[in-house]
Amino acid sequence: MRERFLPFALPDTDEAEVSAVAEVIRSGWLTTGAKTRAFEAAFAKLVGAKHAIAVNSCTAAMHLALEAIGVKAGDKVLTTPYTFAATAEVIRYMGAHPLFVDVDPETFNLDLAKVADTLRREKVAAIMPVHMAGEPVDINALHELAGDIPIIEDAAHALPTRLGDQMIGNLSRFTCFSFYATKTLATGEGGMITCNNDADADRCRIMSLHGISRDAWKRYTAEGSWAYEVVAPGFKYNLTDVASALGMVQLEKLDVMWRRRAEIAKRYDTAFGARPELQLPARGANNQHAWHLYMLRVDNERMRGGRDAFAEAMKKRNIGVSVHFIPLHTQPYYRDMYGYKPEDFPVAYREFRREVSIPIYSKMTDRDVDDVIEAVLEVTAASVS
Ligand SMILES: *Cc1c(COP(=O)(O)O)cnc(C)c1O
Repeated sequence: MRERFLPFALPDTDEAEVSAVAEVIRSGWLTTGAKTRAFEAAFAKLVGAKHAIAVNSCTAAMHLALEAIGVKAGDKVLTTPYTFAATAEVIRYMGAHPLFVDVDPETFNLDLAKVADTLRREKVAAIMPVHMAGEPVDINALHELAGDIPIIEDAAHALPTRLGDQMIGNLSRFTCFSFYATKTLATGEGGMITCNNDADADRCRIMSLHGISRDAWKRYTAEGSWAYEVVAPGFKYNLTDVASALGMVQLEKLDVMWRRRAEIAKRYDTAFGARPELQLPARGANNQHAWHLYMLRVDNERMRGGRDAFAEAMKKRNIGVSVHFIPLHTQPYYRDMYGYKPEDFPVAYREFRREVSIPIYSKMTDRDVDDVIEAVLEVTAASVS
């Protein structure tokens, strides 16, 4: 058994990030500036989008996207209950209501047949799919169902994700990424909005910095001027150059980090595939999974104590695990506000109760991976004996 605790997630940073951040600090320009513009340009190029706007979280990115679309109080926004709090809270920021649709039992992503059914009955102002764990939603099929309804992709897990040969980041009106500490590109806190429409990009940029007209950040540079105009009551969502410098270094090694996670996923698949009590994460044969998470599912009937006992036993063996996610319709706020019962989204509720995420990050050594495999197999075997 492992002697030292293996954290569930760790960022993959080294001296290159330290020097990049030190350089920004020495430059005297700490907040949004040239580094952030360079980070945006590199990011837009990577995902093949016309525009990228750096912000301080994916939550901020999704809020700005809903604002740019003009979602109003009382509107309904279709999304999944199988997600983090952020996806639905931004809908409430607008005074709109999340319209939850249940998920596919294999992928944890929106069930498109149920989306089609819901769209026949309900008027919807926007659709917010989540690419769970880094496995893409079929965005092309979703666009066919959506018609003119704008789509905002929650791509917090989806870097670098491909749907067939299409890179996630340029397929919808807006795509929102997260650079939170545990994500596949980490700046501590941070996010990015990508889009292809000039007016959308302008609106997000203006609203991300107090509603001040274009290039507000330049007012302290040699080419800037003290004059500015406030055109709307905007937000304070800009990303700092300190974070962007970190992000630039992370972007350069994104592919290397992804390859390592894919390698770990393959080892897990091989090791766990033979145990009938364990279900491996689903992925489309032609897609590129980002492997932000490795979502294992256990058999609650066959294994004593089910998922909860499994997670507890892993922790006792010094392996950090987590559960993604507690469905939002079971959370007190949404449950009480909309009167939901757990069974209202039966697939989300059932799959949540068997899900446990195990460590998958590029900083893991081969020995760490061996320890996780050993612990999973032994805990599983002990629970059926
Ligand atoms: C992490 C996460 C977010 C929020 O990202 P922040 O950058 O922390 O705001 C949104 N959606 C999902 C699915 C996430 O996992």
